[in-house]
Amino acid sequence: MLDLLGRPLRDLRISVTDRCNLRCTYCMPADVFGPDYAFLPRAELLSFEEIERLARAFVSLGVRKLRITGGEPTLRRDLPTLIAALAAIPDVEDVAMTTNGLLLPRVAADLRAAGLKRVTVSIDSLDPEVFGRMNGLGTHPQRVLDGIEAALTAGLGVKVNTVVQRGVNDAGLRELWLALRELAPVRFIEFMDVGNHNGWNLDSVVPSREVLARLGGEAGAAHFQPVRADYRGEVASRYADPEGREVGLISSVTAPFCGDCSRARISAAGVLYTCLFASGGTDLRAALRGGASDAALRDLIAGVWAGREDRYSEERGEATAALRPKVEMSHIGG
Ligand code: SAM
Repeated sequence: MLDLLGRPLRDLRISVTDRCNLRCTYCMPADVFGPDYAFLPRAELLSFEEIERLARAFVSLGVRKLRITGGEPTLRRDLPTLIAALAAIPDVEDVAMTTNGLLLPRVAADLRAAGLKRVTVSIDSLDPEVFGRMNGLGTHPQRVLDGIEAALTAGLGVKVNTVVQRGVNDAGLRELWLALRELAPVRFIEFMDVGNHNGWNLDSVVPSREVLARLGGEAGAAHFQPVRADYRGEVASRYADPEGREVGLISSVTAPFCGDCSRARISAAGVLYTCLFASGGTDLRAALRGGASDAALRDLIAGVWAGREDRYSEERGEATAALRPKVEMSHIGG
């Protein structure tokens, strides 16, 4: 199953809710996603049965890795039930989840028992003031650290995601890396122009090469050695310090990786998007609820993938970033 640019369909990201218990300024700013914001009513979310049917269709077309995201996926009730159903699909090699970690102390053990293998936990600063401001609610970073510890105790693999914004959290990157490097690999992500509300501009992006130089302290980037990619399509460029502790750099702005992108995404409402920056998608929920057979679902998805030619990050310019309407991150997940 190849798209028009020869890219295989290998990964599926499934958003299970558009709600979140944080209001990160670059993702779901509180002035837009406030008390009056109309989140999706429950009936409009895909049910677990619908998600499983779609996942099976995608797996039959070549998907091998599933990632659960949101919104904040741990807010979805009975999530272990969904994980168990997905982990039981033959040919699924990996079920992972991206989370802000706040609820992990409550749910990590059940998720692990259900078949979840790995979590990526997002934390942007260890400075309570900086993190509190970035997450929009004043939430303390210790709560995320407790979540990371709970995940490790439950036997889950853990990676950490840190979005870097110039003048916001870039001063504390080395401190964060020094504190977390024994626990988990940290991946620093260039701030992206996702959604329509985060006030993105190129000046707020700290290029990955600058991040690496800062992490290395006095030695700069020379403190690290590159680590060979494990597989084609690995999004993070990995580096290791002399003790072998890894850091990842996700350079979606300064070094886009569209050419290797093998990911499809399903929003919480069941819309299929073939790019994080898409303006529109294909309504799989309508097909599901309209009585489509498994074969018809599979044909629908295959047709979308076969016609895929998006490579937004490679075409991005500041003008296009501002003008083009894009799906919200809270609907589609990271
Ligand atoms: N709530 C979960 C979490 O916090 O990880 C899952 C959803 S969140 C949308 C997924 C990831 O996208 C997070 O690591 C978040 O930091 C990242 N993200 C959100 N907006 C971003 C942006 N504008 N640029 C780069 N990464 C972003």
